[in-house]
Amino acid sequence: MSNKMKDKTKIVNAGRSKKWTQGIVNPPIYRASTVVFDSVAQMNSAVKKRQQQELFYGRRGTPTTFAFANAMNDLEGGVGCYVYPCGTAAITAAILAFVKAGDHLLMVDSVYEPTRDFCEQTLKSFGVEVTYYDPLIGKGIKNLIQTNTKVIFLESPGSITMEVQDVPGICDVAHALNPDITVILDNTWASPIHFQPFEHGVDVSVQAATKYVGGHSDVMLGTATANEKSWPVLREKSYLLGQCASPDDITLALRGIRTLDLRLKQHEQNALKVATWLQGRSEVDTLFHPAFESCPGHEFFKRDFVGGNGLFSFSLKQSNPQALTEFLDGMTHFKMGFSWGGFESLVMAYSTMKNSRPNATVALDSPVIRLHIGLEDVDDLIDDLERGFERLNKAL
Ligand SMILES: *Cc1c(COP(=O)(O)O)cnc(C)c1O
Repeated sequence: MSNKMKDKTKIVNAGRSKKWTQGIVNPPIYRASTVVFDSVAQMNSAVKKRQQQELFYGRRGTPTTFAFANAMNDLEGGVGCYVYPCGTAAITAAILAFVKAGDHLLMVDSVYEPTRDFCEQTLKSFGVEVTYYDPLIGKGIKNLIQTNTKVIFLESPGSITMEVQDVPGICDVAHALNPDITVILDNTWASPIHFQPFEHGVDVSVQAATKYVGGHSDVMLGTATANEKSWPVLREKSYLLGQCASPDDITLALRGIRTLDLRLKQHEQNALKVATWLQGRSEVDTLFHPAFESCPGHEFFKRDFVGGNGLFSFSLKQSNPQALTEFLDGMTHFKMGFSWGGFESLVMAYSTMKNSRPNATVALDSPVIRLHIGLEDVDDLIDDLERGFERLNKAL
């Protein structure tokens, strides 16, 4: 557990260097393509310092970008942070920075679906070999590491099925075998304040800032933060891919950071209440919530995480497509949406995941429902779910 007082103070101050704010509480929105220089000497100096947050050209960022990058870097505990137009861009750029044709990538089987699609549709066509591994493999990853393995990609907890990974175990084994292996973690679920990636041995930590960092369902943004070893490569390869984000979007994410801790705590509390209620329901088979023993990898959650949030899943004992549709269609507060991390509650149902996850450790033959518990009153949310179960049962 890290010092909470220290973290809270960090959340208020992160990225607010006077160099970016000019003394205003929030850094202004600096929009820029061209930066103009009055002299050859000034221009040459900008060229020389362009990798160190000096104004050079819009694509390298403006003080708004630098303020957000520094804030995320402070919170994640890295050496440098690159900002992307969405989480998926951060993931693909981070992977592409460290693999080339002939290399091998180890990808967690419970990964976010677009990350998997990128492996299948892009990486493989580039001649990168991909092996999917069991999210609960832990130190057993040793047996899958080949001489050409360059990247091990983790996402913890896993998308939808929520398996919590032994992150330090995997990092230790990988780096002991080959210090050049880059371990990339999709740290979106925990956000930087509930899991410290670099303390656990990760080389690059990715955030879909679209989720809790933005926190209001009105911005797409991603970040990748790196340690000393990985930062120069990540920064330059991302720049060469043309990655840059809008200062208007960045400002929204920077605003989101200030209440991240408060919001996460409320999401977490609400979700624990809903999950506890679900545990007592006869319709529920297994609860996939990292704070509950029934969640695969629960022991790693207890050991490594500072806290949780509003996102978890559960499987149904019994259902059919019509009953599932009735459950979903009649919701008042839980709307269906392909994201989470905003202030509102969401629901998604996954009825067939078996094909996309051949190595799944979680039984996926029964439908899995994923909930994002928002900041509404919990009693209203439980009431909504209770009526949902009534509709489901009627249609069975
Ligand atoms: C949403 C999400 C992403 C992708 O973020 P976008 O900003 O939507 O591209 C990546 N990883 C995880 C775990 C996510 O939930």
